[in-house]
Amino acid sequence: MDNFKFDTHMHLDLFEEREEIIKYIEKEKSYTIAMTNLPVLYSKYINMYKDLKYIRFALGFHPELVYEYENQISIFLENLKYAKYIGEIGLDYKIKNPNNIDAQNRVFKRIISNCKLRDNKVVSVHNRLAASDVNSIIGKFNGTIIMHWFTGNKDELNKSIDNGYYFSINEKMLNTDKKKFLIRNIPIDKLLLESDAPFTSKSKTYSINFMNNIIRDLSDIYKLEPLNMREQLKRNFITAIDV
Ligand SMILES: [Zn+2]
Repeated sequence: MDNFKFDTHMHLDLFEEREEIIKYIEKEKSYTIAMTNLPVLYSKYINMYKDLKYIRFALGFHPELVYEYENQISIFLENLKYAKYIGEIGLDYKIKNPNNIDAQNRVFKRIISNCKLRDNKVVSVHNRLAASDVNSIIGKFNGTIIMHWFTGNKDELNKSIDNGYYFSINEKMLNTDKKKFLIRNIPIDKLLLESDAPFTSKSKTYSINFMNNIIRDLSDIYKLEPLNMREQLKRNFITAIDV
């Protein structure tokens, strides 16, 4: 069995046992996109870890932190010239403060318009209660957009699909029939996987085994053998990343 392993969205820097987890991921040969939540953290980690084969740090500016740290936008834009992987960025409307929402929109629009100046970025996007605005701010994109932990409705999903986005699926997105029903509408060649660790589980450590549960569920939903689903996901990942 082809044991291709990958994780398109996790937060390596939020684990206390970071060094052990890096060793583990490299040993497992699992292609991993590690989000950062602030531009200064990205700068720190790409200098600290230069020679990793399977882990790539993504340049991020988490929507929940944008309001407080908006002045880091200049660091973000400077790094953006060289970074291929971007995330996590996006919008989060669970926050109700209008000034905060304004700041999120200001920063997100600036990031996206700057991403569009260069081709081939791979971008992981947070969209909690904000899929509609995320769709309209990004629109069509000359690279790869990955909707991370999509929580929108059917219309918003269809718009994201029309725009050509990918969707990274985690275990929490498959824990009710209603959610599974929505996922079924995603074209099979736009599916990716994510752990979003450590947010999706209480475990203090990281395991690539999260893939197995999601693949089993997706196989059920799409009526495909798990082996074939795994193959499909591998193709999707390679296509999504190789832009
Ligand atoms: Zn995340």
